[in-house]
Amino acid sequence: MLQQTQVARVTEHLPHWLQRFPSIDTLAAASKREVLLAWSGMGYNRRALHLHAAASLICSRHNGIIPNDTDALLALPGIGRYTAHAVVCFAYGKRLPMVEVNIRRVLSRLASGMQRENAVLPETVTWKLAASLLPPRAYFAWNQALMDLGAMICTATRPACSACPFSRLCPSAHRLLPTPDRNTQTVRETPRRLYRGRLIEFLRKQPGHCATAAELHRLLFPDSGQEQRMRLFDILDSLRKDGMIDIHERSPGISASGTALNELRVCLAE
Ligand code: SF4
Repeated sequence: MLQQTQVARVTEHLPHWLQRFPSIDTLAAASKREVLLAWSGMGYNRRALHLHAAASLICSRHNGIIPNDTDALLALPGIGRYTAHAVVCFAYGKRLPMVEVNIRRVLSRLASGMQRENAVLPETVTWKLAASLLPPRAYFAWNQALMDLGAMICTATRPACSACPFSRLCPSAHRLLPTPDRNTQTVRETPRRLYRGRLIEFLRKQPGHCATAAELHRLLFPDSGQEQRMRLFDILDSLRKDGMIDIHERSPGISASGTALNELRVCLAE
């Protein structure tokens, strides 16, 4: 849940989620639709389906116990190197390094004199650094401390170098310049994700959790005519490929031309 979502939102949502799915078995036994409905308000809906699929595999392959080795965890959907290491270190107490966005930023700034706030070392380099710096004991606290330092002091913008315990050693201290064109970069990347999220949220609230493609077209592109039709098909196709929606129509497959939007019925996946 914490992948790309703020702690405050997860803190609010987690109790409801655990009430609905108190164990891995109950999550695995739920339908996709139940999982997508319970995920409302969390954003990045693919993570809900990854959790669901991972729960099923944990039940079928690991007797319902979350594996304690990284290879088995990496074989589960939605789990990358950082999450695997975090589970094994934090939940099972094993000595493993970890690199997520905060730690990568801190180690990059500490290891090299960075010029800009957004500059970071290549990911492979930061993993090697993290492994070489990991203390023999208290590695759990070390990993947590690096994350907290990145979240609260060595922040992405305007790091508080004066309050940082590394300020005398750090070659980047008090010299990082702001990132140019930050706003432009953000705007270019967000629309498709936002459209996808808006569409899923709309379906959650519909009777039967279904709507016609025409209704979805009006929802996403209220001021446009047919010119955004291709874009809608693209979004629907990506959601269907991710297993989040089902599309019912007279002839199989979405075609960007020739199918009336009113003939396509889009539903949250069952
Ligand atoms: S001194 Fe500044 S740049 Fe260096 S680690 Fe601390 S907060 Fe980050």
